[in-house]
Amino acid sequence: MTSFPQNIVACPDCDLLQHIPALPSGGKASCPRCGHTIASSKPDSLDRTLALAVAAAIVLIIANVMPLMGLSAVGRQASTTILGGVLKMWQNGHQITAVLVAFCTVLAPTVYIGFMLTVLLAVRRTPAPFWAGTLLRMAEFNQPWAMVEVMMLGILVALIKIADLATVIPGIGMFAVGGLIVLIAAMTVSFDSQEVWRRIWWADGKDPQSVAFLKPEERVEGRTESSEPPGDLTGIKLGLVLCEVCGLLTRPADLAEPGHCPRCGQELELRRHNMIQRTWALLIAATICYIPANLLPVMGTTTPTYAEKDTIMSGVVLLYAHGSWPLALIVFIASVMIPMAKIAALAYLLISVQFRSIRNREERIRLYRLVEFVGRWSMLDVFVVTFVVALVQLQPLMSVEPGAGVLFFAAVVVLTMLAAESYDPRLIWDSSNNKEEKND
Ligand SMILES: [Zn+2]
Ligand SMILES: [Zn+2]
Repeated sequence: MTSFPQNIVACPDCDLLQHIPALPSGGKASCPRCGHTIASSKPDSLDRTLALAVAAAIVLIIANVMPLMGLSAVGRQASTTILGGVLKMWQNGHQITAVLVAFCTVLAPTVYIGFMLTVLLAVRRTPAPFWAGTLLRMAEFNQPWAMVEVMMLGILVALIKIADLATVIPGIGMFAVGGLIVLIAAMTVSFDSQEVWRRIWWADGKDPQSVAFLKPEERVEGRTESSEPPGDLTGIKLGLVLCEVCGLLTRPADLAEPGHCPRCGQELELRRHNMIQRTWALLIAATICYIPANLLPVMGTTTPTYAEKDTIMSGVVLLYAHGSWPLALIVFIASVMIPMAKIAALAYLLISVQFRSIRNREERIRLYRLVEFVGRWSMLDVFVVTFVVALVQLQPLMSVEPGAGVLFFAAVVVLTMLAAESYDPRLIWDSSNNKEEKND
């Protein structure tokens, strides 16, 4: 297996081969075909990210041990931490939802920050041990599931919902969550994963500094001069495979069985196996769950005089009636519109690929990126229910319980996120690349 130097890459979103020029400090290079940011120059990336990760780790501890908010009503006090909310959810018999909330609010951010910190310390000495790459891969896997900013919005909505019933006092934990959002965002902006991969021992035992890359004239068969971008050439045309974890471009001996990435050890795939079947399966499951998610109550309120059950829609109406129409609109968009729009958009992206459509490719890749970006925000209502339930426990005066709808609702969010992750956007462009070959 032969590997290419890191300034020759295949675009992860459209597979176009390109040569990355030397970038000015702070500059970035985008794919000319699909607009994906292929590379960016981040000065002092590792040192800056390390400083931010240390700060994030401290703030993360504060956010988890200090109360998020307190409540006082008719002479009684209550307060909750993030894990307190999770615990209440568990005690109410919603164990699966509790585990999911714990994963998105505590576990995923902790793994992300902790592993990043370890990786950044490990690569200070080069060559860095191979396990640093394994930890980096796990940190990046956890990142989309760390929903600190969605949780923050959920806490704010919960505060508004409760404000009518009792006096609510924001706690130190809430400010720490705000700080954590800023720090995690700054970490992702300043971090350059390629810089880490350049310093790590290869899976096949090579020292990163001694790896013999192909010479320029060997890179692209039939083209002797390749300091210029190869133009219209894609990886699949030349039998080159991009590692989706570390970004290394290799030419495996057998394209049908490309084996493992020589640098990070990830199993290589020219295109994701069974992508269409798997994405359809996740999408159909999400559509089925969407029905009970909207029909079943997500929250039940009990007082001595009345008992009331709220679905997502009636919760939106209630928020609107209480005068906070901006929040009602946010919850409506995040909980009702986005899941439906995501399912429709992914179905369209799948069908257009199955029909090998070559129309609107730029629009389709933008739609795909939008679906990936907004997906997590639908988790909003799950967090709202978690924190309202955790705070409003004033038996026998009033109590709130999660409803069966919450589990189905959370399932819709998780299934559509997994469907978006399993989709391979390179297929949008393949239909044009391979038309001639497939017609033979
Ligand atoms: Zn591209
Ligand atoms: Zn790799």
